Amino acid sequence: MDYFPIFLKLRNQHCLVVGGGDVATRKVASLLAAGADVTLVATDLASQLAEWAMEGKIVFVPRKFVSTDLCGKRLVIAATSDSALNLQIFREAEAIGVLANVVDDPDACRFITPAIVDRSPLMIAISSGGKAPVLSRLLRQKIEILIPATYGRLAGFAGNLRARVKSRITSPGARRRFWESILEGPVSEKVFNGQDSEANALFDTSLEQQVQSQARPQGEVYLIGAGPGDPELLTLKALRLMQQSDVVLYDNLVSPQVLDLVRRDAKRISVAKKKGCHTLSQADLNRELIRLAGEGNRVCRLKGGDPFVFGRGGEELVALVEANVPFQVVPGISAANGCAAYAGIPLTHRDYADSVTFITGHRKNNGDLDIPWFSLVNNRQTLVFYMGLSSLRLICEQLQSHGLALDTPAAAVQQGTLENQRLVVSRLCDLASDVESAQLCSPTLIIVGQVVQLAETLHWFGKPARASNQTDDASGNDLPEAIPLFAHAHSFSNNHSAGEA
Ligand code: SAH
Repeated sequence: MDYFPIFLKLRNQHCLVVGGGDVATRKVASLLAAGADVTLVATDLASQLAEWAMEGKIVFVPRKFVSTDLCGKRLVIAATSDSALNLQIFREAEAIGVLANVVDDPDACRFITPAIVDRSPLMIAISSGGKAPVLSRLLRQKIEILIPATYGRLAGFAGNLRARVKSRITSPGARRRFWESILEGPVSEKVFNGQDSEANALFDTSLEQQVQSQARPQGEVYLIGAGPGDPELLTLKALRLMQQSDVVLYDNLVSPQVLDLVRRDAKRISVAKKKGCHTLSQADLNRELIRLAGEGNRVCRLKGGDPFVFGRGGEELVALVEANVPFQVVPGISAANGCAAYAGIPLTHRDYADSVTFITGHRKNNGDLDIPWFSLVNNRQTLVFYMGLSSLRLICEQLQSHGLALDTPAAAVQQGTLENQRLVVSRLCDLASDVESAQLCSPTLIIVGQVVQLAETLHWFGKPARASNQTDDASGNDLPEAIPLFAHAHSFSNNHSAGEA
């Protein structure tokens, strides 16, 4: 974050504008709209400014800027055509701690002014950090269309009732839910339609009902598939429920980009195992879900990919059923679908594969892989191994020794669907060595089968595949020395659903 967004209360505060042209006129207009006391220092005045000076709306000082103009000011906007003077004003303001903005010179700005959508008292400010003001304006236009002009009225209505609601409903969670039902329900429709007295009457009834109802708010668990990483692969339902959750428990496979879309003030709890820390067992995790829902929270259980594909989602739900906790399940794009699509590898294809099998490469406690190898040896079947990276050599050897051809096309996709996706395309007999020399790390998905040969033709996303036996030097790819993982994925999760462990 390059700039810290704030809304500044300028009513009756002394502000200075230097310059008397059109730009200064726009800046003075905004300051006046915010109720500031504006002093304008300039040698020439545009007509609108002259009018405001005549009407006493601003104090006009008809001369060049002098340092003492800054005394006692909250902020200054320099909008003269003299860039040296503008810079001087910025430096002097900085020296005495007055907030300064030189129009169109981001380097000479302590603050910048955003594009705004004004539905006062509701205000939306958009900034590109001075990098692309036109983009901010385009976005503003889109938001202008989305948000009805009457939203301001709704914000005003809610503002008048806020203290009353706070004193009647003490639990913050219950209060938030009450407000959501008001702001999205029939009360808001009345406000939008200008029927204020009906809105107030309906509001009073709703508040009384809420206060009277002794029932504890009913908590709920949303088991949500977060997809393989790219946040645009979330479903609309996932996004909606993520936006209304009070608390989120997430695995380390959930990408930071996806986590960013959870409601800002929701409590975030990582259930990934942290190095050197006590591991939350699956039973502890189930208990935690039940406890949080029992307190009336809407609990988002966010899992990488799809919660029902190697995600232990089923186990968590059985525990919820036993504890009588209501839940919803939102499917997600599983790693197999996401990685295959973004690597250009169709999982089935009329010419190459009639079926696809998802297999876990996770070893049992005794170190064995419990895989029915004979059922996998079929040249027209695509095999997708989850959690297969650490057992990759063994997997490839077993497939070969059970009869799959050595030259069967095979691929590994690391961090599929994310911008740092890496793809290694090889053959069954070379895949393990190629993946080792490319230093792929978790999360990586393995795809074996004739469909893999389409990866080259259908390449459309990220870097092209790293071909078999390619060395880093010859590849021309600037592979990073250390491959970045998700920022918060310090270690493997407590359960096998979230890592290669
Ligand atoms: N429920 C998840 C799978 C959890 S098992 C899903 O449906 O996708 C964890 C394994 O999934 C990882 O070891 C890896 O093999 C695979 N995986 C998950 N996300 C991945 C990604 N973005 N890129 C590559 N593999 C991924």
